Amino acid sequence: MFTVTEARERILSHFKATSTETISLIEAVNRILAIDILADGDYPPFDNSAVDGFAMRSEDTSGSSITLSVVADIPAGSAPTVSLKAGQAARIMTGAHLPSGADCVIPVEETDFNHRHAGTAAPKEVTITKQLTPGENVRTRGMDMRSGDIALNQGRMLKPQDLGLLATLGFANVNVHKKARVALLSSGDELLEVDAALEPGKIRDSNSYALAAAIVSAGAEVIRLGVAKDTRESVTGLLDKATSEKADLILSSAGVSVGAFDFIKEVIDANGKMDFWRVNMRPGKPLAFGEYRGIPFIGLPGNPVSAFVGFEVFVRPTLERLNGRMDGGRQTVRLRCEEEIESDGRESYLRAKIQVKNGIRSAFLTGHQGSGNLLSLVQADALLIIPAGVKCVPAGSEVDAILL
Ligand code: AMP
Ligand code: MG
Repeated sequence: MFTVTEARERILSHFKATSTETISLIEAVNRILAIDILADGDYPPFDNSAVDGFAMRSEDTSGSSITLSVVADIPAGSAPTVSLKAGQAARIMTGAHLPSGADCVIPVEETDFNHRHAGTAAPKEVTITKQLTPGENVRTRGMDMRSGDIALNQGRMLKPQDLGLLATLGFANVNVHKKARVALLSSGDELLEVDAALEPGKIRDSNSYALAAAIVSAGAEVIRLGVAKDTRESVTGLLDKATSEKADLILSSAGVSVGAFDFIKEVIDANGKMDFWRVNMRPGKPLAFGEYRGIPFIGLPGNPVSAFVGFEVFVRPTLERLNGRMDGGRQTVRLRCEEEIESDGRESYLRAKIQVKNGIRSAFLTGHQGSGNLLSLVQADALLIIPAGVKCVPAGSEVDAILL
């Protein structure tokens, strides 16, 4: 049986990034950048004022009271032609182009002309008592980015602020990786639709909702195939739909254990190849990997918590690889355990809530760790990783944890 790391490496080695497409900037949030973005010039593109105030020559200021004549009024968006000489100043607005000759700006509230309402005409003269240094309140050309600087790296998931940077650089469109397409199915005769009333022996199909949402949250597209009955024919029928949909990955839950009605393994074997079907972990030992008619297949366990953990540990990294993401997905942190934790020696992923006491973050388990208990997963902020071979984690010791 493979360890978690071996199984994950084995799965990942079968995937590479999808091809790319160019989309409009407005659609690009959360997509994965396919190229490095370089600054095509200096930004800001010209020296400009950081405040509303008066542009002047710092050498004219001394700290004692001086009065300068105001020879120009420079709003944002204009290109001033004036050149300041000794004893001269120009009223200037935030973001406006600094006039030549000027090397500093004094904020309006530090002058004798403290009028801040719209529509006020510039004064003829302005008096100041402060000594200014060269560059004071000036945003110099290239201060943010220099021509040729790498602004954004390939493989980055684009955040709202990244779109702001791309807009600054003039990108109306951007080259990103295509979203991976994941065909998702549930399996089991006990499963009811979400809006069905419960019947004896039946439960609602929760995995297809949790997993579809997890796929979307990982930046991929989901193709919902529905629920397969516990028969060869039904399983084959749904898997064939995945091939006609040209999915990049087939993801199923349940039916890969050793139950008498677990047909998924058998159907994969008959029409493709099963690479492995167990991983030495808890929860989620029955975890299958293979391919069906040429499409990679990951079979998650049926228990809702096991399915979720399997998704986080194996499927999310796979979707990141497919989507071309290289900036790291889920964060792993060190957390101090509030209580003693027993384990059975398998690599274990335990649901925990994080608390902050006296500035120290620590974790305690969210109740019974049965793999059918969805509420204890919902209450968790993190999955604690208890390494293989460890039977007891004493209270107060630290473990790695995946933040959810
Ligand atoms: P199996 O792997 O088919 O033996 O299923 C293991 C457990 O997971 C059983 O208790 C199933 O009823 C449950 N289960 C399987 N599929 C789902 C699903 N889609 N939603 C909720 N529970 C499920
Ligand atoms: Mg079943």
